[in-house]
Amino acid sequence: MWFTEWGTPKKRHALVLRFLIKTRPVPGSECIEWIGAIDNHGYGVFRSPLNKRRGTSVYGTSKAHRVAYWFVRGPVPSNRSIDHECRFTRCVNPYHLRLVIPYINTALGNIDRHNNPVYDLVSEEDLDAFLEDEVL
Ligand SMILES: [Zn+2]
Repeated sequence: MWFTEWGTPKKRHALVLRFLIKTRPVPGSECIEWIGAIDNHGYGVFRSPLNKRRGTSVYGTSKAHRVAYWFVRGPVPSNRSIDHECRFTRCVNPYHLRLVIPYINTALGNIDRHNNPVYDLVSEEDLDAFLEDEVL
């Protein structure tokens, strides 16, 4: 569901404000730092309707960057995950996030880029295009 279709204008404003007070700008960067709760992997967490407990009105926690993406850019398809292009896991700037194919993103993250001659055969641009390729 798109954020603009969720709840009422008053509920949307309240949710956005509750989110915003847990953020601050990062000087000298366009990153927006999450200063609320952080999970074990270094990602911000936020109670939101993206993860509503079944049969109740209680919100579960979602990753804060995922909520930021939903607010501004839309729902994340089930076959995609979100990658921080800025590499700052606490960043919630929706324009620093991109949708990628999850298993490829994980596999590339596990490569030692500096010690793998095969890696040198492709440019960063090639890798980015591959990660975002809808055809795969
Ligand atoms: Zn960022």
